[in-house]
Amino acid sequence: MSSSPVERTLVLIKPDAVRRGLVGEILSRFERKGLTIETMVKREMDAELADAHYAEHVEKPFYPPLKEFMTGGPLVALIISGDTAIDVVRTLVGATDARKAAAGTIRGDLANSNRENLVHASDSPDSAKREIALWFPGA
Ligand code: ADP
Ligand code: MG
Repeated sequence: MSSSPVERTLVLIKPDAVRRGLVGEILSRFERKGLTIETMVKREMDAELADAHYAEHVEKPFYPPLKEFMTGGPLVALIISGDTAIDVVRTLVGATDARKAAAGTIRGDLANSNRENLVHASDSPDSAKREIALWFPGA
């Protein structure tokens, strides 16, 4: 019998989604799936938080424009919980390159860029723990 762990994951609804008025659409997809929005705040990501959040990417060539994009306007940060929520959210979000993401996913349906791809979601239990502590200390 497989277990059904309730997990928490960190999601960012990125500045392109806020700018385009897609916050409600994206939240609705998570809610309709049966996930729970535990905590949510609209805020900006400053340079220091960007470097910490994307520590694994800071040396990559795509990082400077990514940082400019992510710090260029308000975003919505949330903790989502549910049964195997880390993988379930990644599946709903779709592949990193939205131009190739499957139809039916958030990125596949609503974006067409490999940078401006609407959503960040933690990719593992370790990332989720680290990112939740970074964005919501004490949560
Ligand atoms: P994901 O967000 O799917 O976990 P990554 O962790 O690999 O993807 O990358 C972090 C973010 O950096 C992506 O969501 C995207 O906004 C941007 N990014 C990744 N790869 C590229 C690339 N080759 N060119 C431009 N932007 C990229
Ligand atoms: Mg990632």
